[in-house]
Amino acid sequence: MKRLLLFTVSLLFIAFTLTACGSKRERLFKDSKVMMDTFVSITVVSKSEKKAREAMDAAFQELKRLEGLLDFYSPKSEISKINKGSGGVPVSVTPTTFSLINTALEVSKITDGAFDITLGVLNRRYDFFEKHHPTESEIKKLLPLVGYKKIVINPALRIVFLKKPGMMIDPGGITKGFAADRAIEVLKAKGIKAALVAVAGDIRAYGLKPDGTPWVVGIRDPRAKSADEVFATLKLTDMAVSTSGDYERYFIEKGVRYHHILDPETGMPARGVISVTVVGPKATYTDSLATAAFVKGLKEGMKMVEKNGYMAVVVDSSGRIYHSKGLEPMLELLKKHIEVRD
Ligand code: ADP
Ligand code: MG
Repeated sequence: MKRLLLFTVSLLFIAFTLTACGSKRERLFKDSKVMMDTFVSITVVSKSEKKAREAMDAAFQELKRLEGLLDFYSPKSEISKINKGSGGVPVSVTPTTFSLINTALEVSKITDGAFDITLGVLNRRYDFFEKHHPTESEIKKLLPLVGYKKIVINPALRIVFLKKPGMMIDPGGITKGFAADRAIEVLKAKGIKAALVAVAGDIRAYGLKPDGTPWVVGIRDPRAKSADEVFATLKLTDMAVSTSGDYERYFIEKGVRYHHILDPETGMPARGVISVTVVGPKATYTDSLATAAFVKGLKEGMKMVEKNGYMAVVVDSSGRIYHSKGLEPMLELLKKHIEVRD
């Protein structure tokens, strides 16, 4: 009996020292889920598994809420309600949806319309599984429904109205970055001191890893078969990064690559560059500016990104790699150029 008691006491002691050690040392905790039509992963640094779990759950819950509000393809989302009201009914939305649309409009202005969420009506005419693209005459007919200036907003009442019947907003070029920012805010509010959130290629990180080093993310080779093959790495502390590429959703027809980043002026996939990575404080902006810079092309795109205090790595259609000077302390190039074969 006595021995048993001693045994229990020593077991308790071991358990106590284990938790005591565990509670002192910071560790990485990671969880991933399929959400927002993509793969979302959250990594947090914490001394306590319980605290890490709670924070990650709260962040995933916020992402679920955003998905419900912002999904272009779900008939129940607020985006769909706005689209259904086009040309007729102004729609009152939640502060979250309003803030997303308001920011998208701000980005349209600073990119001279290269970023434009009213491309919805054209985006849905491309089907990358069925390898279908709209004809020239279809594009011509639909282009009058594109133009961010045809969105009317009332900030006081949080009302959004699309002027022309048939107009559609598709916030797909900003939602994932916006979601990464929101998830980071939730983790910070839960007391997490360092974390990385990746909503597909839209990533935001803050703080340092438990070993005191920055987070490292790779930039995918836009022409490599495997998604793991990167041409550069970036060290991130308190930074966001997004990549827009012509390899994410595409098909090739008669030697022409049709992909998912459209030029609002032509309604056709943008040409000139094949990958744009933008780095800066907020993922909402790295996401939307990467899409816009892709449309604007190397020179204009790079200029626009830097003018707004962000930085970029651009791969042009011949495979040459360019980058903002400010990125040098954090950027490591693993390849000198990209092998382009189409
Ligand atoms: P990904 O979704 O692969 O991360 P992007 O962030 O560049 O890539 O977003 C592309 C998505 O944005 C498209 O699928 C479409 O929904 C939308 N989109 C396409 N062209 C534009 C554009 N010029 N401006 C705003 N949104 C766009
Ligand atoms: Mg983007």
